Order: sequence, then structure tokens, then C-alpha cells
Amino acid sequence: MRPILLERLVCPRCHGGLELCNAEVQDGDIVAGALACWRCLASYPVHGGIPRFVDDGDYASSFGRQWTWFRRVQLDSQNGTRESAEQLAATTGWSDDDVRGRLVLDAGVGAGRYAEVVAAQGAEVVGVDLTCAVDAARQNLGASERVHLVQADLFALPFRDASFDLAYSIGVLHHTPDVRQAFRRLAAAVKPDGQLAVYLYEDNGLGHRGSDFLRHVTTRLPTEIMLALSALAVPAYPLYQLPLVGKVLNLACPISPHPSWRTRWLDTFDWYTPRYQWKLRHPEVLRWFRECGFAELRVADAPIRVCGRRAPGAHT
Ligand SMILES: [Zn+2]
Repeated sequence: MRPILLERLVCPRCHGGLELCNAEVQDGDIVAGALACWRCLASYPVHGGIPRFVDDGDYASSFGRQWTWFRRVQLDSQNGTRESAEQLAATTGWSDDDVRGRLVLDAGVGAGRYAEVVAAQGAEVVGVDLTCAVDAARQNLGASERVHLVQADLFALPFRDASFDLAYSIGVLHHTPDVRQAFRRLAAAVKPDGQLAVYLYEDNGLGHRGSDFLRHVTTRLPTEIMLALSALAVPAYPLYQLPLVGKVLNLACPISPHPSWRTRWLDTFDWYTPRYQWKLRHPEVLRWFRECGFAELRVADAPIRVCGRRAPGAHT
């Protein structure tokens, strides 16, 4: 945690200022200590170089395991693709010029695949995650001066309202207990005239019913078992390509069709383990943007990808 991050943090309970105590500093990095709220007297630890405003994981704990196990799989710098850069651009529509020099919030940073891209574009990015995925992200991106990591709850962000130029959340909000409420908290963090982009699962009817049924079981299994079961997606892939059998399999027990076996394994695990997996429809998401004072909405096809600009003077 770099000292400059301190200026951006407030107590998530009362929005009071925080004071750093008992700091252990290595090469300008605050690796341990505590953040004390002078108003409500709450105290939050800093360990592993990351301020922690929550106990680990809660309803999203499968993601903590996921990003520990698959820490480097989706990083463009590691897998030699531009998939993360392309996904980010397809969701946000932001160019390098839009991002350079801006303060950006990555809500649900995971192992840091998008934060890596935004930092390389010249932004200062604050990545937030509920789980120990922040530790994986620190291992991946901790060397970057422009990346800050915070373990916190999207429903109780440790930032003042209207403090980010840009914010994005890609593939995250549908894994929270209340997607609309999570959206509203995120929207409130964006400055007037700033932009917010989200990527959400879209309800595609019958196509999800097979996995919805299986998820009653898979979300209750130990994540180690699910890691092994989802590995079956790697050798099973050719069966899913067969004309009739493949169609039935894809309806009954869909797996990721990604050409990379690592990503296929990861994406299949990612589909079957999270406790919450809401599927949305475009009209309700567009309504949330408008309710929160966003305009100039740019909408992409399935899944749901929407970016909007917060009107000057908007209140959420
Ligand atoms: Zn407080």
C-alpha cells in the first residue's frame, strides 16, 4: 500500500478520515499496520501490503480460491493474448486518451487482469475485491506504482462519494446478493461527468436452465472437489463439438468453449461455484443507469455491456 492511497481512503462505516498506526514500511510500501477511524473509532488492519476492511471472502469466497489457483491464466502479459484488453475496451469503449492520468476504480479486481491493462494505459487504478483475490492481484501487479489494492465490500466502499473519474465492474456485480444495490454503490463513487461501465450476465432462457439446476449442487460442494470436476471440461471439449450429442451436453451441463484449456478449466469452475449468479436483462440495467443520473449510454450486445456518463450535479 503506497502512502498516496491513504488520502483516498475513508472509514466505510462513517466516512470519517483514517489515520495510519504502527506502520511497517518497506521501500516506501506500507506492508503492515492499522488504519484507525478518528470518528467512530473503528480500526482496520493492513497486512500483506493491503488495507483490509472486511473479513475474508464471505459469499464470494470461491473467487478467493479461484484467483489463488488460476492467478496468471487471464493476464494478457502472461498468456500472450489481448483478451483482457479487448474485453475491457468492448465494455467501456475507452481509448488510451480517455484513461491516461485518470483515477479509475476496478470493482471486483480478481487477479487483476483489467487493472493491468488500465495501468499500462497510464491510469492510476484502485482495485477492490471482497476476497483474498487481492493477494493474487498484488503478486501479479504489486510492482506497478499505479495499481492500488483494497480488500473491501462493494456495499461499503472505503471511499468518499464522487471520487473516481472512471469506474468499471466486469463480470462481478451479478455475483453479489443484490445487483441493483451494488450498482448504486458503485455509481455513487463516480464523479459528475465521470463514466461507469459494467458487464453483466444476460438471461438467455433455456440455455441456462441445465446449469442453474446443477448449481444447486455444485455451489455447495467443496471448492477442491469443484476444481477437480471442472477439470473434466478440458478432455470433454471434443464431445461438446459433436453435432447432436454436443447440443444436448451444452444444454444439460454447459462448459466453457474457450480454446485454451487453462481458461476452459477456469471459466467452467467460475460458472459453477459462485453462490450468486444473477442473470439480467438490458432494460433493467439501463433503468439503473438512468436512476443514478447517467446519460450518453452505450450498449453492446449479449452479455450485457453498458457504459454511461454521470451527469454533472447528479445525485444517487
Ligand atoms: Zn468510522
